[in-house]
Amino acid sequence: MTETKKNTEALLQVENLQKYFPIRKGIIVQKHVGDVKAVDGVSFDIRRGETLGMVGESGCGKSTIGRTILRLLEPTGGKVIFEGKVINGFSGEEMRKMRSQMQMIFQDPYASLNPRMRVGDIIGEPILIHGVSNRAEREKRVRKLLDVVGLSPYHGARYPHEFSGGQRQRIGIARALSVSPKLIVCDEPVSALDVSIQAQVINLLEDLQKEFDLTYLFIAHDLAVVKHISSRVVVMYLGKMVELSTSDELYRNPLHPYTTALLSAIPLPDPTVKKDRILLKGDVPSPVNPPSGCRFHTRCPKAQGICKQEDPEFKDIGNGHYVACHLVK
Ligand code: SF4
Repeated sequence: MTETKKNTEALLQVENLQKYFPIRKGIIVQKHVGDVKAVDGVSFDIRRGETLGMVGESGCGKSTIGRTILRLLEPTGGKVIFEGKVINGFSGEEMRKMRSQMQMIFQDPYASLNPRMRVGDIIGEPILIHGVSNRAEREKRVRKLLDVVGLSPYHGARYPHEFSGGQRQRIGIARALSVSPKLIVCDEPVSALDVSIQAQVINLLEDLQKEFDLTYLFIAHDLAVVKHISSRVVVMYLGKMVELSTSDELYRNPLHPYTTALLSAIPLPDPTVKKDRILLKGDVPSPVNPPSGCRFHTRCPKAQGICKQEDPEFKDIGNGHYVACHLVK
C-alpha cells in the first residue's frame, strides 16, 4: 500500500493500555484475590483513513481493546488519545459528544438491535441523541443511510427479526454511520455470517470507507478475513501484541511462531495444492495466571530455555514490522 501524508497521521493512539477484571471471593466480605489480565500493556496507533486489522484467538483481549477505546469499559491503566486528546479523563458529557466521532459495529447484529424498535427508529436514535430533534430531517437521513447500505426506504418500517443476518449487519452499519463518525471499531462484524455474505459486508465497509473517509479498527479471529480489508495487521496473544506490520509483509514474511500457525490454518483456494498446517498444542492459558517469560512458550513449537524466563521485547525490525520473539534478531 502506498503511504500518503494523509494516512500516516494518527487519528487514534493507544499507549500501554491495560484492562484487568478483578476477581473477588468471599460471601460476606468480598476479597480481591486476583485479576483477569485481559489487556496487558498494548500500544499502537491507527492512521487516518486506514484499516488496522486485529486478530487472535478468543480470549486474547481484542474485543476488550475495542470496548476500552470507546470507554464502554474503563481502562485499568494507559492512555487512549483521539485526535491528540487524552480521552480517559473525559466526563460523561464530553464522552457523549466524543461518541459521535467513534462508533462500533458488533459481532451479533441481532443481539445489538432492539427487537421492539422499527429499523428506522434504530438508525434514527443516535441522530436524535446527538441533537437532530427535527423529525423530518431525521427521517430524511435515515432514508439516505438505508440507501447507502443497500437497503430500501420501506425497510425502515420493519422490525429486526424480519431481516437476514447480512441485512441486520447492514442495519448495524447504517446506525454506526448515522452520526458521521471518524473511527469505527468493527468487532468481528462478519464472524456470524455465511461466507458469501461476509464478502458482501466487507465490500460494503470498503466502499463506505472511501465514500466517508472512515478509519477502521477491524477485529477478527481469522487472518483470512482481515487480509482483504486491512492496510496493517496486529496479532494478539493472551492480552499482548506479538506482531504488527503491513498486511502484505505479514502474509509474505510472518516472523512470530504464533502468526505462522494462524496463517497455516487459512485454506488455499486451490485444493490440489497442499500446505502443512501447524497445530498448536493445548489451549490458550488462563489470563489470570499468564505463563512467565514469553506468554506463548507453553504452546510454541520453537520455544527455548530463555523463553520461560524473559518476556521478549516488542521490537521494530525495520519498515514498521514489529515482533516479540527471542528468535527474531
Ligand atoms: Fe516461541 Fe520463544 Fe519466540 Fe516466544 S520467544 S514465540 S516461546 S520462540
